[in-house]
This record gives sequence, structure tokens and C-alpha cells, in this order.
Amino acid sequence: MTASRPNTDAASSTTAPSKPAIKPHLMTSTWHLQDPSTWNFWQRMLVRLDLLQQPKDAPKAPIRVGEKVPYYPAWRQHAWIFPRAAAPLVIHYAYMRLTGWTLHPVAAFFFYVISFKLFAVASVRKFNRMALRYGYFDGMAPRDGVPDTQSRKVVLSLLGTISIRPLFALCVAYDRHALPSLSWYFPLQLFLYACILDFFFYWYHRATHEVSWAWRYHKKHHMTKHPNPLLSAFADEEQEWGDILIIPFLTWLCMPVDFSTWWMCTSLRPWGCAHVLADDDDGLHLAPARYGPLPRRRLIRNAYHRRGSKKSGNYGKQTRLWDALFGTKMPRQEWTEEAIDWDNTAW
Ligand SMILES: [Zn+2]
Repeated sequence: MTASRPNTDAASSTTAPSKPAIKPHLMTSTWHLQDPSTWNFWQRMLVRLDLLQQPKDAPKAPIRVGEKVPYYPAWRQHAWIFPRAAAPLVIHYAYMRLTGWTLHPVAAFFFYVISFKLFAVASVRKFNRMALRYGYFDGMAPRDGVPDTQSRKVVLSLLGTISIRPLFALCVAYDRHALPSLSWYFPLQLFLYACILDFFFYWYHRATHEVSWAWRYHKKHHMTKHPNPLLSAFADEEQEWGDILIIPFLTWLCMPVDFSTWWMCTSLRPWGCAHVLADDDDGLHLAPARYGPLPRRRLIRNAYHRRGSKKSGNYGKQTRLWDALFGTKMPRQEWTEEAIDWDNTAW
């Protein structure tokens, strides 16, 4: 990183302009269009991991305004998600059975963080591929990229999510002598876990919109109007700590599941219940609405983000359950039954 680079995190804070210049908007994203030699460490990492939604010279997502969107069957989503989420538990199980050894908590931390990272990277790439294939609900507008001055923050937010959560779960729920396993009523556990977690998120989220002094903790999250998966964790620090640690911890206190169950609930959330990756890919031009045990709301978030700070609705992240119960449920704007082509399936 050098001060001469025009659009990097470092440049934004160290370069002193010789004359007053118009300050670019925080969400301005042009670095990926510039020469790779100007990229900083975090930007190179995003490119090398192939996580950018709109890299330079890449094909553009199709614009399909007014067209019905293809249906993404639940079984097809499960077929993609479940093996990838369960793979670390299977490897862990095989290791213990074949060797007779246990996995030390420190080794388990590195193993599950790396597994989480691989799962997250694969999911973002999958979202990006689907976006290129199907476009977005509001396809006339380009996606927000990773902001020029925020690439370090974006990457650290994602790294924090995939490392701090397993760390907390290993501290409170890991038993190195227990074989990884899931109970037969895991689907019920997943349902309850999602509802409890969403209860805490609902009230936090609603408060930030409706209590004037609390908006400051949520404002940055709404600066993206056309979100992409990499910006799903992009928020003010207070919200990031709530999302990454406090709300999952409160959920675990209400429902103290074992580590294997926690892992699956947490890994399935990005898809089934939206969070690390899916929270902000809401504009994806397809319809995974029938996934999971809960009514999905992820595709309405595109419009939700554009609404901004004023008193809003549909505050739940993973379900509209609490919105319905507490009177803040709003009609879907982009994702509607009529907007889905139920005969044409996505993949
Ligand atoms: Zn909000």
C-alpha cells in the first residue's frame, strides 16, 4: 500500500489533497476497475478468492425487468447445502472412529474455522454464478461493490464472522470426547434455533429503526442500496458484534445445543435463513422461497435496503414470524407468488 494509490483503504486516510476535492461517497467502488498493482492486500485477497460479484471484464448479469423468475426447488438447495455443511462433522467423526483419538479444542478451532471459510467461499461463488445466470429483481441498477475505502473492513467483518462464532461455540458447547452426531429431531431444532435467534435480531433491528438514538448503530448497514453477499456483514461495529457474537450467544443460552447441532444450525443459516452470505443477496433474480421450515423473506431485502432509515417493517432476518406477531409485517414488494415461474426451475 502506498499513498499514491488512488482508491485504497490506506490512500483514503493518508493522502492530503492539495485542493478541496469532492469527497466520494462511502460506497464508491472503483478499485477493481483499476490496475491490479494498485490493489491493497485485502482487495487482492477478494480477487484471488474469486469472491467479487462484478470483477473487471467479467460478463454482466442479465437484466430481466418484468420477467417471471425461475423457481429454486427446496430439495435442490438442500442437495447443495447439506453435504457441504455436514462434511466437517463427517470428517471429524471418521477421525475419531478410525484413530480412537479425540480432537483437541485448539485443533478443532482451526479445523472448523477453515471449514467455515471453505463453505462461505463456496456459497458466495455459488450466489455469484446464479446472479450471472438469472440477474436481479432490480437488475437495471448495478450491484454495490466492495467500497474503495472499506475493503479491509469488509474482509475483517467476514473473517470475524467465520472465526469468532466457532470460537464461542467451542468454548460453550464442545465436548472433545463426544462423537459428532445429529438427533432425529434436528429439523425441529433448526426451526426453533432460527426462531429464537430471529427474536433477538428482530428486536435489535426494530429498535435501531424506531428509536432515534439507536439508528447510529445500524446506519452503515443501510448505506448499500443494492447489496451483494460480501456486504452482508458490513455494518457499524456495534451491529457487527451483535450479529457475530451477542445474538448467537443469547440464542445458545436459550437453547444450549451441542456443538454438532450448533454447527449445522449456523452453517445452514446463510442459505436457509440468511445471514453471512445470503442476507444481502436479496436481489437475486430467483425464488428460493420454499426452502426451509420458515417463510422466506430474503428476496424482499433489496427493496428493504432502499427504504433506508425511516420506520420500516419486516425486521426479522430469517422469518416473518415475529413481524407477524408484533405487527410489523409488510407485503412483499419484489418477490411475490405471481413473480415466480413455478414451471421453470433454477439450479
Ligand atoms: Zn434495517
